Amino acid sequence: MIFEYNIGDEVIMKKEHACKTNLWIITRVGADIKIKCKNCGREIMMDRLKFHKKLKKVIDNGKEKEN
Ligand SMILES: [Zn+2]
Repeated sequence: MIFEYNIGDEVIMKKEHACKTNLWIITRVGADIKIKCKNCGREIMMDRLKFHKKLKKVIDNGKEKEN
């Protein structure tokens, strides 16, 4: 599966964070991806492969509203 995402996009991860949300914001895109928990503000970094495995859905703010 191919994901398209940019800094500032919201993403839903397969597993929820310790604070019981699974909604994150992408804050860095590179060899490693950094995401910030929307609820508690905790930031975590992981490599692209791991990120893709854990990623459930990218919420493209523009597209999501059109549907
Ligand atoms: Zn959290």
